[in-house]
Amino acid sequence: MPQQVHAVPVLSDNLVWLLEGADRRCVVVDLGQAEPVLAALAESRLTPVAVLITHHHADHTAGLAAFLRVYPVPVFGSAHESSPFASQPVADGAVIDLPGFPPLTVWHTPGHTRGHLCFVTEGVAFTGDTLFTAGCGRLFEGSAAQMSRSLARLAALPAPTRICCGHEYTADNLRFAAFLEPDNPAIAERVTQLQTQGAASGLAAAAAPPLSVELATNPFLRLSEPSVLSAIAAHGGQPPLSDAERFALLRRWKDDYDGLAPLPEQTA
Ligand SMILES: [Zn+2]
Repeated sequence: MPQQVHAVPVLSDNLVWLLEGADRRCVVVDLGQAEPVLAALAESRLTPVAVLITHHHADHTAGLAAFLRVYPVPVFGSAHESSPFASQPVADGAVIDLPGFPPLTVWHTPGHTRGHLCFVTEGVAFTGDTLFTAGCGRLFEGSAAQMSRSLARLAALPAPTRICCGHEYTADNLRFAAFLEPDNPAIAERVTQLQTQGAASGLAAAAAPPLSVELATNPFLRLSEPSVLSAIAAHGGQPPLSDAERFALLRRWKDDYDGLAPLPEQTA
């Protein structure tokens, strides 16, 4: 049975995720700020049994100390980068078995940071700052080759897998996607949907869209599509480029595009 997930918005645009298990227990994914998460737990009467941290950036970890004073639970973090906050360092392929939850598999997905992790369980993937709704994280520590491999790995998950990402950037990301593929009806539909529903809450990513929606609309998962290839060629790419080269070009292009319409919040 697909797992129940709940998003808790924290800081300016981060999302903390609660994965609900049996007997009103939950697992918390990332913790940029404690107070909103503690309030959400109290309101939903969920009891946390563990915290999973996708990467070391402060907007994913700064709430840990205050949280652990209330709920002293184990903290799983990346063994592939410095994770002083983690009581349980975990590496790629590790399986986190918590009573009342299906197994959570640890994926090392470097690119945004050197040791970034995603956590994959039945029907749900927590993708942190690797895969965003309609976009992807910036390259802070890893290479384009690493990030394109990490994204390709996530793209191969079953299509119904719900994507729970670390930031709400959907509207900004869709603007670039629509600019890149003006004739893609799935992107147009997603933009319309966002305007009618998402704008009300301003939290489209909190809906945890299925991977199938990302495959149809997210340019960073569409690097082999003819429409994206021709956009890249028109932008000055020299096809045939490798996956990593196409990714690098598209990532730089989006950074420049965001630079034209500054998005100061996209710093983490
Ligand atoms: Zn980050």
